[in-house]
Amino acid sequence: MHFSTDEEPRCKRCGDCCRKGGPALHLQDLPLIQDGTIPLSAIVTLRKGERAYDQPGQSVDMLDSEILKIKGRDAAWTCTFFSPAGNTCGIYETRPAECEILFCRDIEPLKAMYDKDRLARADLLPEGHPLLDLIAEHDGKCDPARMEALAKAAREGDREAGQALKEMVVFDMEIRRLVPERTGMSPDMNEFLFGRPLRVLLAAMNIKTYETGGTIRFGFNK
Ligand code: SF4
Ligand code: SF4
Repeated sequence: MHFSTDEEPRCKRCGDCCRKGGPALHLQDLPLIQDGTIPLSAIVTLRKGERAYDQPGQSVDMLDSEILKIKGRDAAWTCTFFSPAGNTCGIYETRPAECEILFCRDIEPLKAMYDKDRLARADLLPEGHPLLDLIAEHDGKCDPARMEALAKAAREGDREAGQALKEMVVFDMEIRRLVPERTGMSPDMNEFLFGRPLRVLLAAMNIKTYETGGTIRFGFNK
């Protein structure tokens, strides 16, 4: 962040906040999705039960409801609309509500709106859409909180938990392979539909997933 003490505090558009991650989306952002400014393929769902960084609280917490967030880029959380070369936002004039309100030297306005009117996947798919059933089935079978509990038990040597975890991860991988294959949808839609892959969530717990001979195995790192 770059400020001089004799200046009126205001955003210098340095891009530091964009590098830390894109915004969560709110009802106010719906028109940006409807008019294609933010395509669904640019959104990642952080599902209920996942651990995620809470920007105002500056802590990693388990989510009690889902959040739709602009994806990261270059394998980092840097907002996908951010151009590091010029420190610019590709949608600045129509940026989402959180970006408009965020000012790093006074985050109270962001705090006040942070968990209000958040968008969820069901807000973006028409009622009765067949993908909603698939999303519900995936959420039921691949619940992140259960995944975390199974992973902890498997790490302690619980074989049944290890087997259940394996079945869960295989289901998660298969649905991400089959849906694009059968619907013609871009695989880029998977993170909106089904959130971050379980193997990514496991990697954050220092558990690697290896694919070997048509099945998977886990590597538990300390
Ligand atoms: S709000 Fe973001 S872009 Fe503006 S000065 Fe702070 S870190 Fe930089
Ligand atoms: S949408 Fe634009 S302003 Fe908001 S985080 Fe991304 S690059 Fe930054």
